[in-house]
Amino acid sequence: MRKPVIAGNWKMFKTRSETSAFFDALIPQIQDIEHCDIVVAPPYTALTTAVEETEGTRVAVGAQNVHWEEQGAFTGEVSVKMLVDVGCTYTIIGHSERRQYFCETDETVEKKTRAAVAGGLKSIVCVGETLSERDSGQALDVVRRQVRDGLGRLTPSDLSHIIVAYEPVWAIGTGRTATPVIAAEMHAAIRKTFAEIYNEAAADALRILYGGSVKPDNIAALMKEEDIDGALVGGASLDPAAFAAIIKYP
Ligand code: PEP
Repeated sequence: MRKPVIAGNWKMFKTRSETSAFFDALIPQIQDIEHCDIVVAPPYTALTTAVEETEGTRVAVGAQNVHWEEQGAFTGEVSVKMLVDVGCTYTIIGHSERRQYFCETDETVEKKTRAAVAGGLKSIVCVGETLSERDSGQALDVVRRQVRDGLGRLTPSDLSHIIVAYEPVWAIGTGRTATPVIAAEMHAAIRKTFAEIYNEAAADALRILYGGSVKPDNIAALMKEEDIDGALVGGASLDPAAFAAIIKYP
């Protein structure tokens, strides 16, 4: 049985005081939740506040990005060790906005994932096709390539520290969710690709989240699909009521 994960990606939103206000509103609503793991990924500047606000709760804190080197002359970057030092237990890697605006590639995804695994951070690694790739019939090939090139050279035991997020780029922040059927088809293809590269057991244990305009009113239908093990939520994770409603989908 794979335990579902509901993760929030705040992107470049929320100051420290807004972060405190968010958790003050969220925590009382989700105190008794046990059916899923909960992760929130604020901007770097709010990580310490988020760690303090979630201490003793079931909410884990993640970063939205990480560098693969431990330290050095990499202006503007933050290492795995630094994230662990402030109390993070997760990081997102290879989000489509990072691929699109910050030149991230399958190669940097692999380096970052290796560094995160080695340093004891769980990774939520994002894959997903653009609208033009889907419209031209390349969606499966693109996502399989992202899996093989970004995550195909790890060990089966490394995979236990990784969560994959399938996020079709055309569904992110657009209000256009993939239908459960479209998402399920891709999730099954992703799991099959991992089974081919590693083995059935490692692929079966892997949690694959859907991301792209997940809201309180569409989460339940998505979660009914066998291969959908949770959600990576952008916009709706900024609102404690909406995020709590998504967490309470069953
Ligand atoms: C995301 O940022 O990963 C995301 C899925 O955003 P949204 O839920 O706003 O589409």
